[in-house]
Order: sequence, then structure tokens, then C-alpha cells
Amino acid sequence: MRILILGGTREARELAHIASGEQGFDIVSSLAGRVRDPLLPVGAVRVGGFGGVDGLREWLRTNEIGALVDATHPFAGVISANAAAAATDLGLPLVHVRRPGWSAQPGDRWIRVPDLAAAAKSVGELGERVFLTIGRQGVGAFAGLTRPWFLIRAIDPPEGALPANHELLLARGPFTLEDESRLLADKRIDVLVTKDSGGDQTDAKLIAARSAGIPVVMIDRPPLPDAAVVMETVAQAWDWLRERSAAE
Ligand code: NAP
Repeated sequence: MRILILGGTREARELAHIASGEQGFDIVSSLAGRVRDPLLPVGAVRVGGFGGVDGLREWLRTNEIGALVDATHPFAGVISANAAAAATDLGLPLVHVRRPGWSAQPGDRWIRVPDLAAAAKSVGELGERVFLTIGRQGVGAFAGLTRPWFLIRAIDPPEGALPANHELLLARGPFTLEDESRLLADKRIDVLVTKDSGGDQTDAKLIAARSAGIPVVMIDRPPLPDAAVVMETVAQAWDWLRERSAAE
């Protein structure tokens, strides 16, 4: 069975790793090509956009894909929607792998907002020194602001306009609690802005913010289509794939 894994996440790499070792599964992983030096999954990899829903549908048809796994990041809403539309058009089985989002714990001071624009509106009222950990994309939503000051952390430098007052910190997680606590203290951070990515690779900053009593602006995930089949773990997605394969 030929399977396309839309990737760019640890879950996608894990699933490619598991499935590549199994008889009867022919896996192709797809990356958007955003990161300069991406962590590559095992097996066949293609890189770059498909050209919208039409391009994806054509690619799936030409490459005789029998099932589609959307294991992209919870905030990669466009490709997830495109995958849903293309799979529906072609009658292809599709599963979305979505790790659970984060939940506030006692002591957390979270302000949940629906999107980047709402986050940009709220930060000025919350503090003067903001730690922006939303990745490279989306920083533009804060570009028009002359205050507060921002510490922007990303793997690669953001493109386009940036907030007037900022420092750029290029780094790739995971980060330890010790590192995050030290960073908050050294940079005298008084607000943290993050997307609700979930998972344990980048949650140390939330624990550090809780310990320091710092408010967190938590940006909610874009919704998946109502009819979406969603699995929280790689193991569940792998079971789903085996069932699809057995039904072939
Ligand atoms: P997006 O906004 O949902 O997608 C924008 C466009 O990028 C899509 O329309 C598609 O182009 C292309 N694209 C996205 N993911 C792709 C993939 N896996 N393979 C081929 N083309 C892809 O996506 P995004 O938020 O820019 O994320 C891009 C990639 O980075 C994804 O693979 C995602 O898993 C990973 N990532 C994203 C985040 C995040 O916070 N957004 C964090 C970590 C990793 P066409 O329309 O031309 O097909």
C-alpha cells in the first residue's frame, strides 16, 4: 500500500520509521521545505508545496497513493484543509495525527486567544518584555508594534517585517526547564506568547513561566474539518494504517 505522510513533525518521522520497516507499506514523506536543515524521516522524501488542493489531488493520483496521513503540525491549517479536500475528492482514506493540546495547571496564568492577531492585540497590556515562541512564521502579526520589546526565538530567521524592538534568538528545541528558567530571568521576560502546539518537546517554557508567575498568551489551534478522523498518537495512526492495508 502506497502512503503519503504529510510531515514536518516528530510524529511524522516516527510513523515513517515504523511503517518503513514493515512489509507491504510503501511510504513517501512530504515536507514543505520551510526549514533550511530539516530533520529528515527515513525512506522516500519529497520536498515543497503541491500547488494547492488541485496540485495535491493530481500528485496523489499520479503517484497512486492509497491512503493519506496528515501528520503536520497542529498549526499547519492550510495543508490539513487541503489534504481533507483532496482526500474527499478522490475517496482516499485520511487520518490526521494530532497530539493533544496543553492544559493549564494550578498556578498557570494563561490567556487563551483564538489567533495570532488576537495575541498581538493582547500583549501590550500584559507586559513590556515579551518572549515570542511561535516559530518563524506568524511573527509578522506583531510587526506593527513599537512596544513592547520582544525576544523572538525561532529555528531559522523570520522573513519580512519584525516588531520595532526585538532581539532574535536562533535555536532548535527541545529546551530544558533549567535553560528556559534562566532565559526568562536573564532577559527579564514578563509575558510569554506561544501556540498551543502540545507535546513534551517544547513545554518546559510553560513550566518555567508557571514557576516565575509569568502570564502566557496561549494561541488556540486552527480547527480541523468536522468529519476529520483524528488520532492523538503515532501508535493509533499506525493501527489505523494497518487496518486500511488489511481492508485493501
Ligand atoms: P500551512 O500553512 O498549513 O501550509 C502552507 C502551504 O505550505 C500549503 O498550502 C502547502 O503548499 C505547503 N505545505 C505545508 N505543509 C506541507 C507538507 N508537509 N508537504 C508539502 N507541502 C506542504 O503549513 P505551515 O504552517 O507553513 O507548515 C509548513 C510545514 O512546517 C508543515 O510540514 C508543518 O508540519 C511544519 N511545521 C509547522 C509548524 C507551525 O507552527 N505552523 C511548526 C512545526 C512544523 P501547497 O499549497 O503549494 O501544497
